[in-house]
Amino acid sequence: MLTKPEIDDRIIVQEHFAQEHLPSALSEEEVEAYTQRIQTLLKEKDAVLVAHYYTDPMVQALAEKTGGFVSDSLEMARFGARHPASTLIVAGVRFMGETAKILSPEKRILMPTLEATCSLDLGCPVQEFSAFCDAHPDHEVVVYANTSAAVKARADWVVTSSIALQVVEHLSDQGKKIIWAPDKHLGSYVQKQTGADMLLWDGACIVHEEFKAKGLRDLKQVYPDAGILVHPESPEAVIELADAVGSTSQLIRAAKELPNEMFIVATDRGIFYKMQQAAPEKTFIEAPTGGSGATCRSCAHCPWMAMNGLENIAAALEQGRDEVTVDPELIEKARLPLQRMLDFQAG
Ligand code: SF4
Repeated sequence: MLTKPEIDDRIIVQEHFAQEHLPSALSEEEVEAYTQRIQTLLKEKDAVLVAHYYTDPMVQALAEKTGGFVSDSLEMARFGARHPASTLIVAGVRFMGETAKILSPEKRILMPTLEATCSLDLGCPVQEFSAFCDAHPDHEVVVYANTSAAVKARADWVVTSSIALQVVEHLSDQGKKIIWAPDKHLGSYVQKQTGADMLLWDGACIVHEEFKAKGLRDLKQVYPDAGILVHPESPEAVIELADAVGSTSQLIRAAKELPNEMFIVATDRGIFYKMQQAAPEKTFIEAPTGGSGATCRSCAHCPWMAMNGLENIAAALEQGRDEVTVDPELIEKARLPLQRMLDFQAG
């Protein structure tokens, strides 16, 4: 069962795109000048840069070069919590900055731009979601990491795509019924794998939802030896074609471990930077997003992740702008379901 009250997240997304400002293209000299300036600023401000796999390779390279970290949203927040720096600059989208703040409330969390958001977060407003949960009090509430701090605070569990199957299986084994939000594709994949009794919120990632099974089958005919790597936020018909299905970190591992020399990859192309590092001799190509039903809103690259650039990283550090703030009471509430997942993972 898919549920969502009267919210048209497509309209919200389109309105957001109308205001979007992407970083400008930089010359080699400008990249070098920004890199040096940011290195100095990071030292001066006692800051460290953490970047998501989907950001521009230039941003990922800068994080690595300056002693920062590139990973998925949860590992970014965990790295930030362990690191001694008093300021974290989070290159990613807003819910990642909030997760960093929840796990490190004493630190200052800056972002290149607070305008960078996520269609899953936008499509799951807390009031509507809370009302839905209230209408099903006998269900355990499991939300994906791609949600606001307020939605996390309403949940019993927060999960990432790398641990969703295990957590839902664990709850299902205890006979629990589950509300899953917000990604319907990941939710239905988890439901299919575990057989759990789940109510799904009707949200989707605008990047992964665009991958096309027909295009993928056609491309596979052209490259019959290529392996297919798919993130489970993709539609079911695309997942069914995969040689490996998993979170970003699991897909990078699969790229290294599977014997194929070439991979067709159904996730944001920003991941190629780390995939190529993990398997330098292999070739990676984007899974198709065109053809029948194509909307070309993303073309395998998240428009919000693309808002992170060297210019706004430097500006955020220099001016202390775009600071993430989360109400302390909300931090306390949102921390519980996050901590539950971390404890489960550790156990
Ligand atoms: S790639 Fe999809 S899930 Fe990730 S931030 Fe962009 S819209 Fe959200």
